[in-house]
Amino acid sequence: MTDMWHEERLYIDGELVDAEGGKVYDNVNPANEEVIGVSADASGDDLRRAIAAAKRAFYESDWTTNVELRARCLRQLHEAIQKHHDDFVEMTIAEVGAPRMLMSGPQLDAPLAYLPFYADLAERYEWTVDLGRAETMAGPAHRWVEKEPAGVVAAITPWNYPNQINLAKTAPALAAGCTVVLKPAPDTPWTGLALGRLAAEYTDIPAGVLNVVTSSDKAIGEILSTSPDVDMVSFTGSTATGRRIMAAGAETIKRVFLELGGKSAHIVLDDVEDMGSAVGAAAFGVCTHGGQGCATSTRLLVPRSRYEEGVEAAAALIGMLPYGDPQEPGNMTGPIVNRPQLEKIDGMVQRAKEQGARCVVGGGIATQFEKGFWFQPTLLADVTNDMEIARDEIFGPVLVVIPYEDDDDAVRIANDSIFGLSGGVTGADRERALGVARRIRTGTMSLNGGLWYGADVPFGGYKQSGIGREMGVAGFEEYLEQKAIAEAVS
Ligand code: NAD
Repeated sequence: MTDMWHEERLYIDGELVDAEGGKVYDNVNPANEEVIGVSADASGDDLRRAIAAAKRAFYESDWTTNVELRARCLRQLHEAIQKHHDDFVEMTIAEVGAPRMLMSGPQLDAPLAYLPFYADLAERYEWTVDLGRAETMAGPAHRWVEKEPAGVVAAITPWNYPNQINLAKTAPALAAGCTVVLKPAPDTPWTGLALGRLAAEYTDIPAGVLNVVTSSDKAIGEILSTSPDVDMVSFTGSTATGRRIMAAGAETIKRVFLELGGKSAHIVLDDVEDMGSAVGAAAFGVCTHGGQGCATSTRLLVPRSRYEEGVEAAAALIGMLPYGDPQEPGNMTGPIVNRPQLEKIDGMVQRAKEQGARCVVGGGIATQFEKGFWFQPTLLADVTNDMEIARDEIFGPVLVVIPYEDDDDAVRIANDSIFGLSGGVTGADRERALGVARRIRTGTMSLNGGLWYGADVPFGGYKQSGIGREMGVAGFEEYLEQKAIAEAVS
């Protein structure tokens, strides 16, 4: 057990409370399998109490109409997290296994910016749009549109970048005037519960506006997607769970925002001068945080004319990549979150080898660590796009290299996927590379190493990578309804 600052109680209706019957479950550090502490293990009734509190707060507090209060509370929460910044760093390393190196980026500091970003946006947003006067069938009318919060939002989040995803949902939903039930993944409860504690201790957020409920039962989220009192489910996780949420929500015509899996392709064009830097983003990207990122490019597409050069350059980079203890600031990659995930990755890699993939680097569970869940950074060559390893999301540090014939073939292979989340193109001729990027059906693209990630940039997927956009203005408007009003005038 650690003495690190944390919160293990649920946050329901403005109170930090134990789960029903005082039930708790272990929070395990994936780097060494140590139990760092416990977390409240909510029952279905706990979750239903949170939904009821969020509904009451939506209808009975002035949260939905008081923009000034909302902006103030988001800034208070931002300040509170900053006060506890180092505590969040330690919790995130311990329960996620995320490398310390990533704390100044997407694991913590970058998402913190969402709170002031959405506070500012709520203050300057055009809540009413005047459509002017029109001659209607019922006579002259003045028409306008008022933007209103969508209602009670269930935010269901995964374990891979918990601060990023908890805040990318909670901040815009609260700024829009919604009330929220946040259900973090079972593997990463503390980073979520800490938000509840800070909301209680440091902010004027009214009781019931924000609720945080953790449970060891991952399917408890089903209560959120079926409840008639939840207006919207905002979900990030696997495409399989996204499908279940959509189906479960159909009965109540639930509004769903889904940020799902990916199998993104990075295309290297045949005119690149320096192959090392052309494959660099994909090689480093796939090894960042053990490849446990939905927007990671996991397929590297290299022209057949320069295939071996591309494989060698990627192998050199992946082979020298520092990985190990996430506490060490030099490591880019730590452990995999839990044993089932580790075994899933290993199963996919071993099946790929049986199907003819050539293992150039890594290729199995790392054995130099006594404890924890570790997979070797891996490069597989001679992969064809019909193999499972090229089609299914792996969520591990595994890059596959696929040869292509010409630009059309590269575009065809990149788009031959049920997913459409992200990707990249590298090429010496900018117009040609941009033309290829525009033909890829994904929500984000990197051109010659550009990074699209930021509070103001909409992020989300085409095809089975999701519905809707997170972050940016679009990620705020997901949480709004539009009411058109017409007033008879003379
Ligand atoms: P998951 O999709 O099973 O879980 C994500 C969240 O959904 C968790 O909070 C979980 O408790 C909840 N959940 C699970 N079943 C639910 C249900 N029926 N109704 C409502 N909520 C439910 O993901 P996971 O088990 O954490 O990881 C499995 C796979 O998901 C990974 O291998 C990876 O491919 C993928 N994944 C994708 C992302 C992403 O950002 N796209 C993030 C994490 C994991």
